[in-house]
Amino acid sequence: MRDFAELCESISRTTKKLEKTRLVAEFIKSRPVDEAAHAAVFLSGRAFPAYEETVLSVGGALLSRLLQEVTGATGHQLTLAYRRHGDLGSAAFDLYSEKRIDTPSQPEITLHELESAFRKIAAASGAAKTPIIRDLLLRASPLEAKYLIKFMGGDLRIGLRESLVEEAIGKAFDEPHDLVRRANMLLGNIGAALRYAAAHQLNQARMRLFHPIGAMLASPTENAADALSYFPDPARLQIEDKYDGIRAQVHCGADVGTKETRVAIFSRTMDNITESFPELAEALKRLSEDVILDGEILAWESNAGERGASAELREQSARAKRSARSPGINGRALPFTHIQQRLGRKSPSAELIRQYPVAYMAFDVLYANGDLIIEKPLRERRKILESLFEKRVGAPPAPSSQVGRDGMEFVVIPASGKSRTKKSSSQQDLFAGPTAPDADSVPLPPLVRAPTYRASSAEELDQLFDAAQSRGNEGLMLKDLDSLYTPGRRGKAWLKVKRELATLDVVVTGVEFGHGKRAGVLSDYTFAVRGPSADPDAPKSEFTLLNVGKAYSGLTDREIADMTEWFKAHTREDRGFFRSVDPEIVLEVAFNNVMESDRHESGYALRFPRIMRLRPDKPVAEIDTLERVRELFENQHKK
Ligand code: AMP
Repeated sequence: MRDFAELCESISRTTKKLEKTRLVAEFIKSRPVDEAAHAAVFLSGRAFPAYEETVLSVGGALLSRLLQEVTGATGHQLTLAYRRHGDLGSAAFDLYSEKRIDTPSQPEITLHELESAFRKIAAASGAAKTPIIRDLLLRASPLEAKYLIKFMGGDLRIGLRESLVEEAIGKAFDEPHDLVRRANMLLGNIGAALRYAAAHQLNQARMRLFHPIGAMLASPTENAADALSYFPDPARLQIEDKYDGIRAQVHCGADVGTKETRVAIFSRTMDNITESFPELAEALKRLSEDVILDGEILAWESNAGERGASAELREQSARAKRSARSPGINGRALPFTHIQQRLGRKSPSAELIRQYPVAYMAFDVLYANGDLIIEKPLRERRKILESLFEKRVGAPPAPSSQVGRDGMEFVVIPASGKSRTKKSSSQQDLFAGPTAPDADSVPLPPLVRAPTYRASSAEELDQLFDAAQSRGNEGLMLKDLDSLYTPGRRGKAWLKVKRELATLDVVVTGVEFGHGKRAGVLSDYTFAVRGPSADPDAPKSEFTLLNVGKAYSGLTDREIADMTEWFKAHTREDRGFFRSVDPEIVLEVAFNNVMESDRHESGYALRFPRIMRLRPDKPVAEIDTLERVRELFENQHKK
């Protein structure tokens, strides 16, 4: 691992992409394939291949304690070293060097050993992790300790993205970068992709279900007319409602081991959220086909009634209920606030499931009939999605006369049957084992194929936009029927037209205690957008955070209380009245307009910002940019 740590160090010292790839390619070439495969996984910032759901779960506190134990450093020395770098790995390097732990007497850790130690750490719970980590640290040189700690703390930060590792693999084995990337996407395992590249058999790589593919993203547009300007040929335009729920990629297929149908649901941040929606997983099993769907989990109200919704929920939805429903759909989507209660809740109780019912709105299909079909145009994927649904429910309803209604109709796999859930149990035994009492059974949620519409003028699009909003949805999505599915990319092939009130997705960088009834809680949030990296040579994906405003209204007392706990545990620096915090909490903020201002580093400030909601589904790397703020600023002056 000594050479590997040296490699990481050299990579972190250069900002040049080409140099980074060259270093990685040389390392890969110089090692046996097995070892190079481990290195490729580690260099992608992972302890295990992406398709595995194994995590190390090693906390900073345990690492700090062991670091002190192994180096004999005092708490004060550790704090000083940490403050110098703001990173425990670099602090470890200093402490090891100060204690002259230069060349440990024990044999060097090999990458194989490191991989198997990581597996043992992941499998061990609580205190059982300690001796395995201690053993690694005792055998480490200062530089190895630095990277061991960085790995185990889950924060490699050497400026190496997975795409650069893919490029390096291509370079090392003289294979096209695109093929390596494709194999990695299919397999969810960059180490396995490396093996195929080494054997010059990249085209043999086959899709492995149950690991997430990056979600295709949409670019924002100002309004319907602006959106339409991207589609000079309306025949290429597919329009859908923009639903306000949780993006969810569904994998359905036979489990390799048991051969039984298995379902996994992944969030936009690629987390496995199946446990939070057991009834949906059960409903999706009815597809009983190897398939990957893209769609949105929505809070759902069926036409038949409230399905156990609470009085509070009924009241909240009363206004929405009066508005138009999509004709033919047995039910309607409710706003995001209704599904918030289900977010992050593992193994929800039958009561919670009944109280906050959901549906799955499928709008795309990425894998079907044994093939990954992301390279087929949307118009073909759409047909495959249609036939998938129609196979189960028969012919679609006749097209209605509604403006812009697409010839391709939507189909609902109706809610039927019951799922049984026990009050608190792990995913495995949720639907197995003895039959739960009737009180515990919940209706299976409906699976809906998203309705599609057509429009050929801004006027028609405006009508569709109003209709979408009156159905309680956020706005519209405009999709190019000729476009391929580009995982993880935000392009102009998908455009979103949201509510006209401008909003920005921002991240909280600093917090303060509130006043009056909020005196004891951290309720005032300073937030930032993404700006370009200070280093002009840095890849586009690197960014700095630039503050753009401060808001103190919009969250519920409960949310503020939870946030207070979180911010206390994630304070970077406590300056008494102000705490800088780990930039991880993403918010959607609305505001009246954008002003130029010296108050924040961004050079702008938002007027009357208010928090619309927490966006736990959105990673910081995808929040809005300084460029977008500038655009909004300039546009408001045009009007
Ligand atoms: P935003 O989160 O504002 O960047 O908007 C993109 C998100 O809209 C996607 O990640 C989806 O979760 C969501 N969305 C809602 N309806 C659709 C739809 N019909 N097609 C694609 N994405 C949709």
